[in-house]
Amino acid sequence: MIEVQKLVKRYGVFTAVDDVSFAVQPGEVLGFLGPNGAGKSTTMKMIAGFLSPTSGTARVCGFDVQEQPIQAKRVLGYLPEGAPSYGEMTVRAFLRFVADLRGMGVAQTRVRMDEVVGRLGLERVLEQPIETLSKGFKRRVGLAQAILHDPPVLILDEPTDGLDPNQKHEVRALIQSMARDKIILISTHILEEVHAVCQRAVIIARGKVLADAPPAELESRSRYHGAVSLTTANTVSVKEGLARIEGVASVEIDPQDGRITAFPRAGQLIWERINGFIQDQQITVSEMQLERGRLDEVFRQITTTQEMRA
Ligand code: ADP
Repeated sequence: MIEVQKLVKRYGVFTAVDDVSFAVQPGEVLGFLGPNGAGKSTTMKMIAGFLSPTSGTARVCGFDVQEQPIQAKRVLGYLPEGAPSYGEMTVRAFLRFVADLRGMGVAQTRVRMDEVVGRLGLERVLEQPIETLSKGFKRRVGLAQAILHDPPVLILDEPTDGLDPNQKHEVRALIQSMARDKIILISTHILEEVHAVCQRAVIIARGKVLADAPPAELESRSRYHGAVSLTTANTVSVKEGLARIEGVASVEIDPQDGRITAFPRAGQLIWERINGFIQDQQITVSEMQLERGRLDEVFRQITTTQEMRA
């Protein structure tokens, strides 16, 4: 388990992390979301033991990161922001070096090297110096060193940063496959990533936790939750018709693509009624969708409300 209690980090008078508390349970992938400069990396560095907090505590599998640093680091794999490593070393030499630092024996090193090299697709770059690798491969080497000792807890700072869409997909699948028996904290500013891999999302801005909930619950706070969007040729008359349906609060037309969205009144289910209306009126609809809510909108709302208050 990761337990963070009242973590604070100040740089002079500036508070980068302001009284942050949360816990991550086994089998859970927690997404740490926030705009740039929100305090995500600083929080992760404190949990990983790379930075001392001004106050507050972080515990990993019961070990206090400050008071029992060796035990805490043993159970932890950490992918830092940008994944710095030794550029002149080859990938193989670097991973061997990490295995040595971790005190892994020869047999364990061989088994784990094979495992992570295969999982991260590093076979063809094993003998290449790290500084000559593309950003995507450097990121994969960073991930490889984080999981080499098969730790129960993983802290991954922007794990898919710099990867192309296929590589992003692969790394997300890797995180999902590890999630079953590990505790994983990932930071990201990519909202679709939260859907793809996280059971819970903590939204942080200006160093403070502003929300802590499953992605679906955050989406249900969106005004799009339960709205019905459709595309049809006859926008103006359909808009008027939809606005008269019971339970519909308002109807908007997207000026960019002409898509019509009908928003429900609180607690009203409008999908069936709109469907019935479309059939009765014999309206041709090229596509129609029940919106589950838009995380990007909720994210913007939560983080900018905070900005405005500050
Ligand atoms: P994020 O990872 O969410 O983008 P960071 O944790 O990197 O944010 O940074 C949080 C805030 O702390 C930023 O405003 C950043 O400029 C500031 N900060 C980070 N490191 C230092 C430092 N060593 N000295 C002063 N300010 C810092």
